[in-house]
Amino acid sequence: MPDYDVVVIGAGNGGLTAAAGLAKNGHKTLLLERHNVPGGCATSFIRGRFEFEVALHQLSGLGLPEFPGPLRGLLSDLGVLDKIEFVQQKNLYRIVIPGEMDINLKAERAAVQEALMEKFPAEKEGIKKFFDLVYAFCMELVSVMFIKDPEASPEKYPLFFKLSLKDSQGILDDYFKNPCLQQAVSIYWSYAGLPPSKLSFMDLAMMIWAYIEFKPWHMKGGSQAMSNAICDAFITYGGEARFNCAAKKIKVENGKIQSVITEDGDEISTRFVVSNAGPIPTLIDMIGADNCPAAELRTLNARTVGLSAFTLYMGFDCDPADMGIDKTTNFICSTADAEEAYKRMKTLDAVGFSLLTCYDVDDPEFSPAGSCQAALVTLQYAQPWMSVPPSKYYDTKYRFAGAMIDLAEKVFPDIRKHLEEAEPATPLTHMRYLGHPGGSIYGSEHFTRETSLFVESKSAIQGLYFTGAWNGSGGFQPTLQSGASAARSISWLLNKR
Ligand SMILES: Cc1cc2nc3c(=O)[nH]c(=O)nc-3n(C[C@H](O)[C@H](O)[C@H](O)COP(=O)(O)OP(=O)(O)OC[C@H]3O[C@@H](n4cnc5c(N)ncnc54)[C@H](O)[C@@H]3O)c2cc1C
Repeated sequence: MPDYDVVVIGAGNGGLTAAAGLAKNGHKTLLLERHNVPGGCATSFIRGRFEFEVALHQLSGLGLPEFPGPLRGLLSDLGVLDKIEFVQQKNLYRIVIPGEMDINLKAERAAVQEALMEKFPAEKEGIKKFFDLVYAFCMELVSVMFIKDPEASPEKYPLFFKLSLKDSQGILDDYFKNPCLQQAVSIYWSYAGLPPSKLSFMDLAMMIWAYIEFKPWHMKGGSQAMSNAICDAFITYGGEARFNCAAKKIKVENGKIQSVITEDGDEISTRFVVSNAGPIPTLIDMIGADNCPAAELRTLNARTVGLSAFTLYMGFDCDPADMGIDKTTNFICSTADAEEAYKRMKTLDAVGFSLLTCYDVDDPEFSPAGSCQAALVTLQYAQPWMSVPPSKYYDTKYRFAGAMIDLAEKVFPDIRKHLEEAEPATPLTHMRYLGHPGGSIYGSEHFTRETSLFVESKSAIQGLYFTGAWNGSGGFQPTLQSGASAARSISWLLNKR
């Protein structure tokens, strides 16, 4: 008898839902996490009187009780829905290009269209037609990919088959002339980490549709509260978790999982491993290329490490209103050109856009009374940070943080004078805490070929499954779903035995 039915490596979103789902189904499950708390990105840290949210700006897929999204069912199945107090965000986002555009979009389709039409009256027709297209396309996508209509065909679902893999830029060009309008409609491209020219229409349309229909959310206590709730459920179902305990090796014999060896040298026998640590460390460092099927290594080689983030976590000595912050989610772009903004993610010279999220606007109890906090984030590749000599790292990080504040001050001129705590995190910080190559926060680059349409969650090594952002899609909703899906597949196999 193996020591455990399943060993889950990593307690990020994907590892947590996998572990909780398996334990709930009665399987003897061990969760190993190298850090001292659960969550991975879905966590918080404390500086001064602030507990800073590390990652979550907007949770997708939850929906309302009367119109539930997929995440509501998932969390309910795990028995954690009523353990988390969700906070609905009223707006999708405010987007500002200083001197050129300032627009707020409420999380309602009609309101979004109206706000865009008011700012861009010459493009009324295109705006209406674009949202008609997004909605019609997403209805087809839901039927094909989620309801899995067995009679799906290009005749029955023409939009899905014609547009899914097209790039978003071509479609934006068909409907809109003004680059500011294009940026206002498509800024969620930044949630996938690729500009519209490289992002499939399927991904862009789904983000727009899902955030409008299922609304953006956050939660009391931040994403750490959700990670804790899922981890608590896992333990209540009989699971065992070890923190400060990294998996170092996975033993494979004759193409089958045999055991996991921890950093402390403990060897734990099992037939199933769910890895939330990403395929590169799992296959190369833990299993070793010699034990991996050649075809799987070739596929791995063809994948591109995705981008990371630079975040300035800021605690303020006043309420948001004192600094003119009255929306939770504020995109501040230095250019309307998404290509240019994307280019800047590969340099340390200029900031293309930043997202200022002030959690206290929709949840006034998020920070201590009379204070508030905001995360000011932009996307950055690790490469330029890896080229900074250690002696220059500290200065470079604070210079970059300064440039981020300079841009944010164009919209909120008083933020610098109310700053009480500030902690910057670079792609190297994410590398250190998550262990992912490049400190990637969304896994592989979100090219169509690397989305869940084409990426396998099951390895060719018998008993090995992947969950998390590297498993097709980054972000909270997809990673939570990936763990639940791995748990279902493994439970089915274990129950068959
Ligand atoms: C600044 C920032 C902002 C973001 N904003 C949003 C947002 O608004 N909305 C959204 O949906 N998404 C957002 N994301 C993305 C989202 O947080 C991630 O895509 C998602 O949380 C990744 O989950 P995961 O399951 O891949 O696990 P990860 O969070 O990557 O965690 C992996 C876990 O595995 C552990 N691990 C690694 N190696 C080992 C080992 N050898 N042994 C044991 N444990 C190991 C790590 O310590 C970690 O805990 C953001 C991310 C960041 C960083």
